[in-house]
Order: sequence, then structure tokens, then C-alpha cells
Amino acid sequence: MAWGFMTDPEFQTELDWIDQFVREEVEPLEFVLESAANLRQPRFEELVRPLQAEVKRRGLWACHLGPELGGKGFGQVKLALMNELFGRTRFGPTVFGAQAPDTGNSEILAHYGTPEQKERYLQPLLDNKIVSCFSMTEPQGGADPTQFRTKAVADGDDWVIAGEKWFSSNAKHASFYITMAVTDPDAAPHRRMSMFIVPAETAGIEIIHNLGFHGEADPSHAHMRYNDVRIPRQNMLGGQGDAFKVAQTRLSGGRIHHAMRTVAQAQKCFDLMCERALSRTTKGEMLGEKQLVQQMISDSWTQLRQFRLLVLETAWLIDHHNNYLKVRKNISAVKATMPKVLHDVASCALQVHGSLGISTDMPFTDLIINSYHVGLADGPTEVHKVTVARQILRDYTGADEIFPTGYRPHLREKARAKYGALRGEPAPAGR
Ligand SMILES: Cc1cc2nc3c(=O)[nH]c(=O)nc-3n(C[C@H](O)[C@H](O)[C@H](O)COP(=O)(O)OP(=O)(O)OC[C@H]3O[C@@H](n4cnc5c(N)ncnc54)[C@H](O)[C@@H]3O)c2cc1C
Repeated sequence: MAWGFMTDPEFQTELDWIDQFVREEVEPLEFVLESAANLRQPRFEELVRPLQAEVKRRGLWACHLGPELGGKGFGQVKLALMNELFGRTRFGPTVFGAQAPDTGNSEILAHYGTPEQKERYLQPLLDNKIVSCFSMTEPQGGADPTQFRTKAVADGDDWVIAGEKWFSSNAKHASFYITMAVTDPDAAPHRRMSMFIVPAETAGIEIIHNLGFHGEADPSHAHMRYNDVRIPRQNMLGGQGDAFKVAQTRLSGGRIHHAMRTVAQAQKCFDLMCERALSRTTKGEMLGEKQLVQQMISDSWTQLRQFRLLVLETAWLIDHHNNYLKVRKNISAVKATMPKVLHDVASCALQVHGSLGISTDMPFTDLIINSYHVGLADGPTEVHKVTVARQILRDYTGADEIFPTGYRPHLREKARAKYGALRGEPAPAGR
């Protein structure tokens, strides 16, 4: 398989533009706006829309969809190179039309939506005229979806949804929810549930409580209840029993896109760490001259570089196969690696900044918490490690004798039977 490490010069020009635009125009938004998902907050129209218009003019808007789904078809490698620039700031994805969970939701609408669903939900979502919510996890268990209890029962021309959901991000800002519910309780575990589009204005939707985590200005992860929420039959997304298949389409994309942005966040920490190492003097020398600080710089650089290569290789494989399922192992490996890389690099950057580093005047504690976010959302690290190992083991078979194939006495015996004895050694018996 071909492999290259070069960006074509034309696209590099775009990347250079993105880098400067994000640092100068987008990053300052963090200090004047609250949430990238609240389209109704004061000054969103005034400050964000002109930047989005500039991105659209440049042809860099909403690049996550393939051409067959109405997107630009940049592919995941180019998307990775873009994300690792605009992912350094909370508003970057929104300004580039690539914010979670809307990217994943638009992906499943594009794949499974009917023409009517696409017109009503997909286009406004891609235009960031509305935002959306993915409502899957339940209070009694997220990592094991077979435990979900929210049910949808057919009633005349409608489905009636009842149950509770947990950590439904952006529910309070969303115009619609993509909700997973049990439709066939007696079917096989992965065929029991279906996916639905639930408009936010439907009667019976109750937000019980909005959870937030450290560093979030706008707590918006909803514990919510569907109180016999009635939606038309045609609001099913995909076929009956297809919820797992539909969810995988969005979760795989979501995982790799989070990883691309994680490269950006870790790189930001790394750059700040290097700047500090060359700015602060203690006991007569720069921090950067202390060997233990040098170790942090060296380890962080290598860890980040390894991770970035894993992300880019996975992006390349997705483009190559054009099928997330064929790259499941690689996506899970990226997903399982990302929390540790962000955690480790952000922690080193914090440490090198001393007391300033742990304060909220610097971004490190937020990014360390974010490392836990990316280790939980879209499935915990442990589950992804299990996936990686299972997929790897499919390509192996066990030894058919007691001794493994690497058992040296047997290998030596075979080698001598093939090539004879070493110089100066007695010849094997029978020769
Ligand atoms: C910031 C954030 C945003 C989120 N946004 C959304 C959203 O928009 N929509 C949505 O539906 N959900 C969302 N989630 C929920 C997320 O998908 C779940 O948190 C995740 O699937 C884990 O479920 P849980 O929290 O119930 O943890 P549990 O399932 O209770 O797991 C707890 C811990 O147990 C361990 N564990 C679990 N399973 C295994 C296993 N098989 N092997 C070994 N150890 C295991 C892990 O350490 C895991 O962290 C979000 C979560 C976060 C943190």
C-alpha cells in the first residue's frame, strides 16, 4: 500500500490560512461567548456568522461529508489536517461547520434519512441554523447499550417513546434529538432497538437536570425524560431494529474527529510548555536546561507525534476503505490512546508552568478534564481496548502443540535440520 507524508502544496496554502485565521479571529471568541452550541446567545450572530461566512467563501465549510452524501469529499486525511488546527479552540469546529454532535448526526441523516428528513433536518443542521442532540445513554448504564430501557411503542400512525436518557449533550439548545429506543424487546440484543428523530418542540420532553463538568461555562448534558412522547411513524431513522448499525455510523466518525481535535489540544499544551521552558529561569538556568524538564519535552513530543501518526494512518485507512467498519480496530485504538496522550501532555505543560499552570488562568486543568471527557464520551477506553484486542486476535490462530511456535529448542532443531550444524559443533544426529 502506498503511503506518503506530504501535504500537497495547494492544500498546504489552505492549512496556512486556517492556522492564522483560527489564532487571530476564532480563538478570541472563547473569552467573549459562552457556548459554541447556543445559537441564541447574545452576540452569536454578530461575532460567529461573519467568520462562518468567510470559511464558506473559502470552500472549507462542513468538510466531513463525502461527495456521495452531498459533502465536499475532502476525505478524512485532509479533515484531520484541518481539525488539528481549528480543534485548538472551542469555537473552531463551529466556525468550520464541523462541531460534535452535529457532524455525527448529519452523517447518519445523510446515510439513512428519507428525502423529507434530509430537507427538514439535514440542510439546516449543515448550515448551523440549528443544532442537534444524540440521546442514547441511559442512567442505569452507558457502556452496555443492551441495558437500555427507553421504549418506543407503535400506536396508530405514531410511535410513543417513554423512558429516561442521560448525558444527552446540547439537549437544551437542540432543535431535534436522535433518540435510541427499544422497539422489539424479544429480538436478539443488537436488533432490539431503533433510532428516531424527535423534534424538540414535541410534547412530553422533560429536561430533569443539566449536568456540567469542570471548565464548562454552560452545563448542557441533560438527564432527560421522554414522557410518552408521540412522534409520527415516518420519524424512524433507518429500519426497525437498526439502531446499533445507525449508531456505529455516527460514533466511528465522532471518535476519529475527536481524536483529530485532541491532537490540536495536546499540541497547544506542548507549544505553551516549550515557550515556558525558554522563558523561566530558576537556580541560574532556564527551565529548558534542566534535564527533567527536557525529559518532559522529549517524552511529550514523541507521544504526541506517535499519536498523530496513528490518527493520520487511521484517517487514511478510512479514506482507502470508505467503510468505518473495516477500520474498527484502528478507530478504537485511536479512541483508547487519545485520553492518555492529552492527559500526559497537558499534565507536563501544567507542571512546567508551576502554580500558574494549575490555575484557571491557564488552559491546562480544563484540558486534563477534557482528557477524561474523551475517555468516556463515545464509549469508555476499556471497552475500546477490548475491541482492539478482539479484532487483532481474529487474525491469529493458537499453536497446535504444547510448545509455542517461538520455542527456541524446536526452532534450533528445525534450523539445523535445514542448514546443518554451526561451525565447530557436532552435526545433528542422522547427518
Ligand atoms: C462529556 C460527555 C458527553 C457525552 N455526550 C453524550 C451524548 O451526547 N449522548 C449520549 O447518549 N451519551 C453521551 N455521553 C455518555 C457516554 O457515552 C457514556 O458516559 C459512556 O458510554 C459510558 O457510560 P457510563 O457513563 O454510563 O459509564 P458506565 O457504563 O457506568 O461505565 C463506568 C466505567 O466502568 C468501566 N467499564 C465499563 N464497561 C466496561 C467494560 N466492558 N470493561 C471494562 N471496564 C468497563 C469503565 O472504567 C467505565 O468508565 C457523554 C459522556 C460525556 C462524559
